[in-house]
Amino acid sequence: MPFPHQIEFIEVGPRDGLQNEKALISTANKLSLIKRSIDAGVRRIEVTSFVNPKRVPQMADAEEVCAALPARDDVTYIGLVLNERGAERAIATGRIDQLGAVSVATDQFAIANQGQSSEESVQAAKSIVAMAKAAGLTGQITLSASFGCPYEGEVSEDHVVELCKKLAEAEPLEIALADTIGVGNPAQVTRLVSRTIEAIAPIPVRVHFHNTRGTGIANVWAAIEAGASRVDAAIGGLGGCPFAPGAAGNVCSEDVIYMLNRAAIDTGMNLNKLVETSTWLSEIMERKLPGMVAQAPPFPKAG
Ligand code: ZN
Repeated sequence: MPFPHQIEFIEVGPRDGLQNEKALISTANKLSLIKRSIDAGVRRIEVTSFVNPKRVPQMADAEEVCAALPARDDVTYIGLVLNERGAERAIATGRIDQLGAVSVATDQFAIANQGQSSEESVQAAKSIVAMAKAAGLTGQITLSASFGCPYEGEVSEDHVVELCKKLAEAEPLEIALADTIGVGNPAQVTRLVSRTIEAIAPIPVRVHFHNTRGTGIANVWAAIEAGASRVDAAIGGLGGCPFAPGAAGNVCSEDVIYMLNRAAIDTGMNLNKLVETSTWLSEIMERKLPGMVAQAPPFPKAG
């Protein structure tokens, strides 16, 4: 396979990055994060989720965030939804361009995360994609716990590929393999991404990694080498999952973009602006964020 010159980058900071934060971030600061991300070149961004505010209080302002999104024809706003009720809410805002549905590869995590069995989460994701299309939006699916489960441990690669084939029947815009708890390793990523691409072509494969055990950025590289064309990350490396014990941050946007820029893979992103945004967010959060590039000096200029 020829090495890609271009990768589509998806910023998930406003949703996956913030959802696990205990201190509520103001709607105004969420909107600033979204605007700054767009200014840094982001053209696809997960802006919020339409879930039960009692379960995820940080996302209780989903409708308010959507009402104030910048009017941009060139930006795809993604709303994460877990069921038909969430899909209806997202569609009703009139501001969401794309529904992001979530299926889970294992029963125990599916029940903890969204009160569905794995099979029910597959059916729900397929109907969410259908609802998106019927409303004139696009719909994509993320398969959580593809590389390991916080409750069931090992997840069979055959099982993940079979689930992706079932999900592909709904003809989503793409299917993402997600390492929700950051247990994956690059050899596993190479195998699973290659097999999934073969199983669901021409539907593209996106990847979503967490850096819980330091393998996140290596997994991104392995996924790209194996043919994944779309990569999620969160500014500052923020993130975690309220229903996955011990899950830590997403792979960090500016770390991923630094790596891809230096490797001459175009993402349309401005690294300096991304680093500025990460520094700003660190001030808002009043703590050092996990990402590394924002804490390092820029690539040295010749003296
Ligand atoms: Zn995630």
